[in-house]
Amino acid sequence: MIEKNINIVEERIKSRCAAAGRNPSDITLVAVSKTHPAEMVREAFSAGLIHFGENKAQEMDAKSLEIKESVLWHFIGHLQTNKVKNVIKSAEYIHSVESVKLAAEIEKRAAKLDKVQKVLLEIKTSSEESKFGLETEDQIKEVADFCMESGNIQLSGFMTMAPFTDDESVIRKSFSNLRELKEKFNARGYGLDELSMGMTSDYEIAIEEGSTMLRVGTAIFGSRSYTI
Ligand SMILES: *Cc1c(COP(=O)(O)O)cnc(C)c1O
Repeated sequence: MIEKNINIVEERIKSRCAAAGRNPSDITLVAVSKTHPAEMVREAFSAGLIHFGENKAQEMDAKSLEIKESVLWHFIGHLQTNKVKNVIKSAEYIHSVESVKLAAEIEKRAAKLDKVQKVLLEIKTSSEESKFGLETEDQIKEVADFCMESGNIQLSGFMTMAPFTDDESVIRKSFSNLRELKEKFNARGYGLDELSMGMTSDYEIAIEEGSTMLRVGTAIFGSRSYTI
């Protein structure tokens, strides 16, 4: 089932890229495996996926120890400073940096491991309910500048979550806001490559708006039960 789902998602990425004049190789599919067992990650890896997303520090740590295949882990959830030490052991990317305090902890822990941690800043791109993410340009600049000056952090780009709505124009606006923000920062020399945006319900819109990292869970692994 997983392999079939991956094929469907990859076909949709390809056709949407073709329509939008984009190259599918510029897009990383991050399979969001949260709540699903390691066995399903292995199955997706066998079907050709390398990038996996988790939103809980403990769960990512457990799976990264259990899975010996060379998968790349993306931490996409809200991150508390006391969990950084754990997350940084396995994270290829941390998508959810939203304060100088958190970035400073990442810098400190990455330096101890002699690692350069790739991060994205989580941005609130709509006035919706979402609790996390940087809002004003001053806030974003402050955290971005801290990351740029940190020897053990590589600032790769921005991440956002679109609001939960059926209104496509609202979702699209949220994604285009993030793209424009990246363009604005790059005009000032930040050299950001990545836009992490788009989930199961909206990844095709995200492709049209310039996403380079799609975080897709349900369309690959099926629905989640939160009983575990
Ligand atoms: C769970 C999650 C996703 C994936 O959601 P789906 O709707 O299952 O594709 C993407 N991004 C974040 C931050 C998530 O927590």
